[in-house]
Amino acid sequence: MTASHSIFCDDYDPNSLSIQEASQRILDAMSPSQGVEWLPIKSSLGRVLAKDLVSPHDVPAHRNSAMDGYAFRLKDARPGSGQAEVKLQLVGVSAAGHPFLGQIPSGGAVRIMTGAVVPEEADTVIMQERVSLNDQKDQITIQAESLPQIGANIRLPGEDLKAQVRALPAGRALRPADIGLAASLGLAEVPVRPRLRVAFFSTGDELCSIGHTPQVGQVFDSNRYTLFSMLEKLNVDWHDLGVVKDSPEALENAFQRATECADVIISSGGVSVGDADFVRGILDRLGRTVFWKIAIKPGRPFAYGQFTGNKHFFGLPGNPVAVMVTFYQIVRPALMRLQGRHPLPAPLLIQAQTRTPLKKMPGRFEFQRGILSRAENGDYQVDATGEQGSGMLSSMSLANCFIRLPESAGKIEAGSWVEVEPFDESL
Ligand code: AMP
Ligand code: MG
Repeated sequence: MTASHSIFCDDYDPNSLSIQEASQRILDAMSPSQGVEWLPIKSSLGRVLAKDLVSPHDVPAHRNSAMDGYAFRLKDARPGSGQAEVKLQLVGVSAAGHPFLGQIPSGGAVRIMTGAVVPEEADTVIMQERVSLNDQKDQITIQAESLPQIGANIRLPGEDLKAQVRALPAGRALRPADIGLAASLGLAEVPVRPRLRVAFFSTGDELCSIGHTPQVGQVFDSNRYTLFSMLEKLNVDWHDLGVVKDSPEALENAFQRATECADVIISSGGVSVGDADFVRGILDRLGRTVFWKIAIKPGRPFAYGQFTGNKHFFGLPGNPVAVMVTFYQIVRPALMRLQGRHPLPAPLLIQAQTRTPLKKMPGRFEFQRGILSRAENGDYQVDATGEQGSGMLSSMSLANCFIRLPESAGKIEAGSWVEVEPFDESL
């Protein structure tokens, strides 16, 4: 049996699947992208590297100076016994991009600038501030106590990157430093994975799109905007399919359109008890369903399924906070794996002392919203953002972290230590 089938095993209770178990099963069902496309490095920020980048040459390629100063042979500058200083004759200049082409005779030195090639005969560079220059500017005097160590202020070839070593690993989502590193290797283009195609839509007869006037009982659709923003941060090729009515025909039509333009389909709403049958019926005909209630809060109703053609479907709950939590905790790592990212970023978890009591019932893993800060003694402390209703998007907007409370936890007193997951820049 392939890994992509193990997700359909019946050996778990769909009502009590833990977040860890659900995430792992979903991750195991994701096959990383194998495609390769070459892009100019300026277009590759955030894209996933498809092959290791190997350094074609040493970086830097030549010995060069780390300082503005003077290059010389250290043995020429060792004062004789009883001498407090030594004088060296200046025989030329090595500037960045304009190496000194002569030879340094015994007792000579070369004026050298930062980044300039160190002449072959020199083994040491002294900072300009440590010498005195005569009025004719053709001689420097170095005090014995100012003499640096041999090799001082010289950057060696390959000190940044050695030729033929892996400069960046396949699977890396390229960051600004990586783009610069590729440029330092002289690479104009890099091989990346093709963009993942993701379609998303909201479901609900009560939803009003922005730009329209809400009727009594209608709410503005916010989920498509949080989803759009989180997908944009993941650098995917997204398709916004709008608001879909709560009818089997409208839903089926949306799924059809989604599978035509994307490899991943994300919906919000319509998977709680009562609504779920629509979605399940369609998936059973057009693909296969794995319906879960994951033991988390917010976000218990959560569906995963596959449409034929190896298309993944994530049915997120409707509540706006639940959308963000389930996307961030479950869908995002799955999309990263599909994108070919490796390794997946591990969440940064820290211990903080809660200053507010936290309401909780044992049973589900909770992602409460918190504000993390440092106490005067340097310890981390956290405050809940207030009421934790799963429809209150303001709690996400106020927060800078999740307070992660395990299934078994009950009510938590102020002053207790809790596990906190700071938001990264994508929330
Ligand atoms: P559902 O999961 O469809 O039962 O929706 C649960 C709650 O989330 C209801 O209060 C919905 O009105 C609300 N909701 C569902 N979809 C959206 C949306 N796209 N934007 C804002 N609220 C929504
Ligand atoms: Mg609904």
